[in-house]
Amino acid sequence: MAELELFRRFPESRHLAHVELATLPTPVEELPRLASKVDIDGLWVKRDDQSGEIYGGNKVRKLEFILGHAQAEGHREVWTVGAVGSHHVLATCLYARKLGITPRAMHFPQPLTAHVQEVLAALSTTSPELELVGSKYALPGAMLKSRIKEWLSRSPNPYYIPGGGSSPRGVLGYVNAALELARQIDNGELPMPDAIFVAAGTCGTLAGLILGAQLADLPTRIVGVRVVDKVLANPVVTASLANRTAHLLRDAGVSVGRVLPTDVEIIDDQIGEGYGVPTDAGEQAMDLVDKTAGLELEPTYTAKAFAGLLEAHQRERRPLKNILYWHTLSSVDLGPLVKAADPARDLPPEYAPFLEQ
Ligand SMILES: *Cc1c(COP(=O)(O)O)cnc(C)c1O
Repeated sequence: MAELELFRRFPESRHLAHVELATLPTPVEELPRLASKVDIDGLWVKRDDQSGEIYGGNKVRKLEFILGHAQAEGHREVWTVGAVGSHHVLATCLYARKLGITPRAMHFPQPLTAHVQEVLAALSTTSPELELVGSKYALPGAMLKSRIKEWLSRSPNPYYIPGGGSSPRGVLGYVNAALELARQIDNGELPMPDAIFVAAGTCGTLAGLILGAQLADLPTRIVGVRVVDKVLANPVVTASLANRTAHLLRDAGVSVGRVLPTDVEIIDDQIGEGYGVPTDAGEQAMDLVDKTAGLELEPTYTAKAFAGLLEAHQRERRPLKNILYWHTLSSVDLGPLVKAADPARDLPPEYAPFLEQ
């Protein structure tokens, strides 16, 4: 497989721990039918849905650096947190198992959709150690309790991965992704986009793209479409994450500047009633993109991100000639996993309400 663009361009960064899990570079494609339908001059998609063979989407790039680091530090177990339909928890469990690392996760509830149930069924096949807390507000307390229990039992200190895989190590995956895109632009695979649109949850993807675009001197706007509460996704959080990642890069010998909150552009008006709650604009975007481009979106992240792209283009029009939509959802068919799954047997009993039809 091709060498990571980060390592190729900055050989000194090869000291950063990394394990190969993804299929890179991911393709870029033009979407002419969809573009003409919504009156955009040039619309392109970055196919991160195809970033991995067993599971794609935006978490694989992060996990290459996270699980690589966990391995380098000799951890045999990782643990993380997320909503019950979390793509991050699923990706972590699938790829940790692949590397022979034991995955553990703490879940909190989210609105039940068919997509959430599919993720849970696939997850149940990885035999993860799971715990479900009553609500997202109970999460910090439950996490603390779990850590104390670990410490008291002197268990072998699992490697902690923050929600969404948005640690500075994880963000390196999206620094690399921006450099990868710069290469594709240099190669003439797509024109320099005026703006890139991407879903913003824990903002690791956004932070990495901004930092990477800065490293690559890409004169393009990068717009995050917020799909979680504002306390979690905002310019201060994003810039801070980017700067902690920049610190890692500097320690590895790569010289990189600072990201300021004012460098971060986030659209706030697509979240609707909250995380995981479908919106009308999102459902319309989902339908349109499926019918005219054959791309599948889901209600929590990508439908809202695409709706944000359409809305911004409507509003701004002229300045946005060439637009790149960064597709963060896995398109790997989970059908075989779901078919083999027996979630009622393999998930703890408190998950029963999430398995109902
Ligand atoms: C996790 C996820 C995101 C959000 O990425 P962050 O780095 O947490 O902002 C976006 N889209 C999809 C499909 C995801 O699973």
